[in-house]
Amino acid sequence: MSGTAVKSAPAPKAKSSAEHVDVLIVGAGISGVGGAYHLKQQCPGKSFVVLEGLESFGGTWLMHRYPGIRSDSDLYTFGYRFKPWVGPPIATAQEILTYMGEVIDDNDLAPHIRYNHHIETASWSSKDNLWTIEATRKDTGERLTFTANFLWMCQGYYRHSEGYTPQWPGMERYRGRIVHPQTWPDDLDYKDKTVVIIGSGATAATLAPAMAPDCKHLTVLQRSPTYFIPGRNQNDLANILREIEAPEEWVHELVRRKVLFDQEVFTRRAFEEPEAVRAELLEGVRLFLGPDYDIEKHFTPKYRPWRQRIAFVPDGDLFQGIASGKASMVTDEIETFTETGLLLKSGEKLDADIIITATGFNLSVLGDIAFSIDGKPLDFANTVTYRGMMFTGVPNMVWVFGYFRASWTLRADLVADFVCRLLNHMDKKGVKRVVPALRAEDRDMPLLPWIDPENFNPGYLMRGMHLLPKRGDKPEWQHSQDYWREKNELPAIDLDDAALQYD
Ligand SMILES: Cc1cc2nc3c(=O)[nH]c(=O)nc-3n(C[C@H](O)[C@H](O)[C@H](O)COP(=O)(O)OP(=O)(O)OC[C@H]3O[C@@H](n4cnc5c(N)ncnc54)[C@H](O)[C@@H]3O)c2cc1C
Repeated sequence: MSGTAVKSAPAPKAKSSAEHVDVLIVGAGISGVGGAYHLKQQCPGKSFVVLEGLESFGGTWLMHRYPGIRSDSDLYTFGYRFKPWVGPPIATAQEILTYMGEVIDDNDLAPHIRYNHHIETASWSSKDNLWTIEATRKDTGERLTFTANFLWMCQGYYRHSEGYTPQWPGMERYRGRIVHPQTWPDDLDYKDKTVVIIGSGATAATLAPAMAPDCKHLTVLQRSPTYFIPGRNQNDLANILREIEAPEEWVHELVRRKVLFDQEVFTRRAFEEPEAVRAELLEGVRLFLGPDYDIEKHFTPKYRPWRQRIAFVPDGDLFQGIASGKASMVTDEIETFTETGLLLKSGEKLDADIIITATGFNLSVLGDIAFSIDGKPLDFANTVTYRGMMFTGVPNMVWVFGYFRASWTLRADLVADFVCRLLNHMDKKGVKRVVPALRAEDRDMPLLPWIDPENFNPGYLMRGMHLLPKRGDKPEWQHSQDYWREKNELPAIDLDDAALQYD
């Protein structure tokens, strides 16, 4: 990781006076650092800061420190479109941090980023056309005030302080250690210990192969199965292009196109012929586990492929652990925790020295920041989203909410283009405020939950749907979760459409 980028840029000198910027970016994760890059490139005259609550950049990839932490997307598409990815497609958190550190260094972004700045409030004043942002420096306790013309929310989608752990009966009497992967303790020693991981999403699929070789035994306990795609952590096209000494910019662009083309075909097939896709996915698992393994029970989900994110398993490492006997899968429900482990609904007992709850996130809408508009508290659930980027009645603000079925960063890049185009458009028009508003033809539009649960329904979204903005039934008023549509639609948005009102 870059050494220079972790240092906080100097804090503003006067505590009492507010520091003003044209654009304030919240968060120095992959979206915020990308936003800073695009802003510098596409709106070179704008002043900006990135405020980040943590001590360094990386967001998700800095915060998660559990064994084996890696992406489940390929980095040709999870990486930015402007910076070639030169490593294997699936990357470790450290590799992603190194890549982001290079973006910060190569583009001299460090002076714009303030670490340890936790934002608590954001208040809009229509009189001044300004956001006022209150932050606390976590290293000094100092309270700071910033004003900004435009707020670019790159704060991610889940609460960073703690993961989601359901409350099971008897947890208080368990004598072993309960750990959530989001807050992994540095001192956790699992060598020769019996470990149970609760959950079977991407996190469990990463943890299990990383931990199993050191544990006495590791069990993955799932309530219901998940789809996995095993495959080599190699990209054949990238290998060929490198063999013929194609420049890395070409490799990045061509491999990206190929990955996106293949994903589009796969996504379409998952909707059009879900049974065929399901059979293919299960066959992929069977190849590793053999004909006698109970694939039906442990690896055949009830939902259609693609209704939840499908985890990629590089080199089938999860299945290799199971095949070797070091790890096992149990599909059952927890009746109660006991002193020594878990009693399951089937009556089976699972003893464990350590129980890891890989049970997901708590959704966090807009970084748990208290927003207000002209002194009135803002409840985002009462707004309607403009293309999953802006909200009715909320001026000069864009948030980045990426894709679930494709790499998050694809959308971070597209949204960044939109923000920069919008800012340049406002300058050209000589206006200070833009706010999405329902048009006359939208007044009778049905208002629906943020995402259609029939389309995509992971637990954290279902638990937090009531907190999220509403969606309408027209393309302008929803986050389609469809990169292949949005890659053409977002750059073609008519910025003078009546859905965007200027002042
Ligand atoms: C373990 C894990 C693996 C994942 N793997 C993939 C993957 O392979 N592919 C994929 O597409 N997606 C993946 N995701 C989803 C992932 O979170 C996003 O893809 C992406 O990293 C999000 O980047 P971001 O910058 O938008 O948000 P984050 O990475 O969450 O960063 C947001 C930043 O904002 C800061 N922040 C938030 N609130 C405040 C505040 N009030 N004040 C100051 N700072 C604040 C946070 O500290 C954080 O640094 C994964 C998620 C997890 C948890």
